[in-house]
Amino acid sequence: MGEDYYLILAGGIGAAKLIEGIAEIVDQESLKIIVNTGDDIELFGLKICPDLDIITYTLADVVDKEKGWGYQRDTFNCLSVLKNYYNTGWFNAGDKDLATHIYRTDLFKKRLNKTQITKLICNNLGIKAELIPMCNEPVETYIKTPEGWIHFEEFFIKYQCKPEVLNIEFRGINDARALEQVFTYIKKAKKIIICPSNPIVSIGTILGVKDIRKALSKVKNKVYGISPIIEGVTVKGPADKLMKCLGLEVSCVGVAGFYQDFLGHFIIDNKDHMLKPKIEELGIKCYCYDTLMINLKKKVELAQFIMNLD
Ligand code: GDP
Repeated sequence: MGEDYYLILAGGIGAAKLIEGIAEIVDQESLKIIVNTGDDIELFGLKICPDLDIITYTLADVVDKEKGWGYQRDTFNCLSVLKNYYNTGWFNAGDKDLATHIYRTDLFKKRLNKTQITKLICNNLGIKAELIPMCNEPVETYIKTPEGWIHFEEFFIKYQCKPEVLNIEFRGINDARALEQVFTYIKKAKKIIICPSNPIVSIGTILGVKDIRKALSKVKNKVYGISPIIEGVTVKGPADKLMKCLGLEVSCVGVAGFYQDFLGHFIIDNKDHMLKPKIEELGIKCYCYDTLMINLKKKVELAQFIMNLD
C-alpha cells in the first residue's frame, strides 16, 4: 500500500480535462503532477511554459474552458500591438496570460529555477496540488518539415500541424534531470496516472528525462494509462502524425506498445473494445470505458473509473 497521494504525468489540454475530473473527487493536496516542459518556448523575450500554464489555470479554475488554454474572458490588446514588433504574433497570448509569462521571466532573471517559479505561481493562484516541471533544464521540441526544422509550438499553432513530419528532436533532453523527490513519488504514490496526452511530445518527453522511464517500469502494477487515440485518430492535435513518423501504429495498441515496459493497466475507449485482447497480449491489463471527456460529467466519470480500479 502506497502513501496517500497520486502521481500524474501530464501534457496540456488532454491532461487538463482528466485532472479537472480527478480534482472533483479527490483533494488537490493529494495530487502530485509532473508536467511536460518540452514545448516551452521563448517569445517576445518572455519564458512561456504552455503545458504548465494549462494545468495551472485548470486547477485554479480560471482556464478558458472553450479553448482549453489561457485565461477565461481574456483580451488580446497587448498581443495586437506586439504583432507590429514581432513576427511571432501567431502565439496566442492573452493579456492576463502575458502577466504569468512576465512574472515567470522576471523570476528567472532573479535566478529562481522552473520548479521554484511554478510553486510561486501556484501559491499565488491558490493551487493545492503540487505541480512539478519534468526538469529545470531547458528542453525544446523541434519538428523537421520539408521546409526545415521548426519549434513544436510553431508547427502546432502557426502551421496547425499541417506540414509533413520528417523527424522530431528533443533539444536538451540528454541534460534533463528530474527532481530527486520525483523518484520517491514514483516509489510511494498510491497510483500513477498517465494522462491521455500526446504520447510522443508530452508523455514521451517526460519519459525521456533520465531514469524516469526506468523508475516507472519498477512499479508497473500501479501505473494506469488512458489512451489518447480513439478509433485510430487523435481527439485533437498531431499525435497521429508524430506516431506515424516514429513508425508506431496509430491506435490504442500502438500507444500501449510504446508504453509497454512500464504500463500495468490501460483504459481504452469503448469504441476500441475489439482491440482489448491485443493489449492484453502485451502483458497489460486492459479496460474499456467512454474516454471522450466532452463535459465535466464525463471527466468526473472517467476519473472515478480510474480511481476505482484495483
Ligand atoms: P496538448 O499538449 O495541449 O496537445 O495536450 P496533451 O498533450 O495533453 O494532449 C493531446 C492528446 O490528448 C491528443 O492526442 C488527444 O487525442 C488527447 N485527448 C484530448 N482530449 C481527449 C479526451 O477527451 N479523451 C481522450 N481519450 N483523449 C483526449
